[in-house]
Amino acid sequence: MKTYLIPLLAFASLTAPSVASPNFTWPNGAGAAVCLTYDDSLPSQLDIAYPQLQAAGLKGTFFLQAKADTMENRLDEWREVARSGHELASHSLVHPCRQGLPGRGWVSDELNLDHYTVERVRSELQLTNTLLNAIDGQTARTFAYPCGDTAVANGSKSFLPVTAELYLASRGVSSQLDSMQELNFNNTPAFDLSTHNLDESIAYLEDCYTKGTVAIFLNHGVGGDYLVTDPQLHQDLLEYLVSNRDRFWVDTFKNVMTHTHDEFTRLGWDKEH
Ligand SMILES: [Zn+2]
Repeated sequence: MKTYLIPLLAFASLTAPSVASPNFTWPNGAGAAVCLTYDDSLPSQLDIAYPQLQAAGLKGTFFLQAKADTMENRLDEWREVARSGHELASHSLVHPCRQGLPGRGWVSDELNLDHYTVERVRSELQLTNTLLNAIDGQTARTFAYPCGDTAVANGSKSFLPVTAELYLASRGVSSQLDSMQELNFNNTPAFDLSTHNLDESIAYLEDCYTKGTVAIFLNHGVGGDYLVTDPQLHQDLLEYLVSNRDRFWVDTFKNVMTHTHDEFTRLGWDKEH
């Protein structure tokens, strides 16, 4: 079934924009965009994910938390990642999360976002931007919410206005899009590769292709560390993307979101929803 479906969809994309995302276009006639993202500044990303991306000729986005062993001991390697065209994005200074939510017993008192103020979030995110700027020289940046959390003070105060001000887009953990017009730049969807197999991942890609949307893959460890993505699955996904280069535009979260901003402006779509 799938072997017939794919050429048909590829042909459809040449003739008309996706029905689900009318008039929205991706560069070079691609049917969907793809972002490969990696959280928490983990060693296995430098050891395994980055070399696999380099070999495939694909660009990824590394959401770095500033307080991390690799930031202390392997900073030159992160500089090299940036020089190679990948994105160094922000995942906060110290990765605070809300301790008060179910399953969050592992969050220390020191890093308990429930006890933060919005101003403290702002200060730490600005400091992280300054640090990342010292590494890669970039000013415009994207962000990923640690643990997907968007509020402080036991959930009573949202810091979404702060991230909207500081970043051109922020990756969240919300559910998938039915059309590009639904996109919330300040809290985008993500698809956790570590909890899916290759068939499920390709089905997700093809669903995004049908809808003309963006597939945003989230990873932590790749072949090591924690919340581990199987390195063979990661490699197989990259190979699928390489062999479907004409159909999927694979680029950094920053580049894809910059293009998306431009398309929203061109089409007169509302970015605040
Ligand atoms: Zn994280």
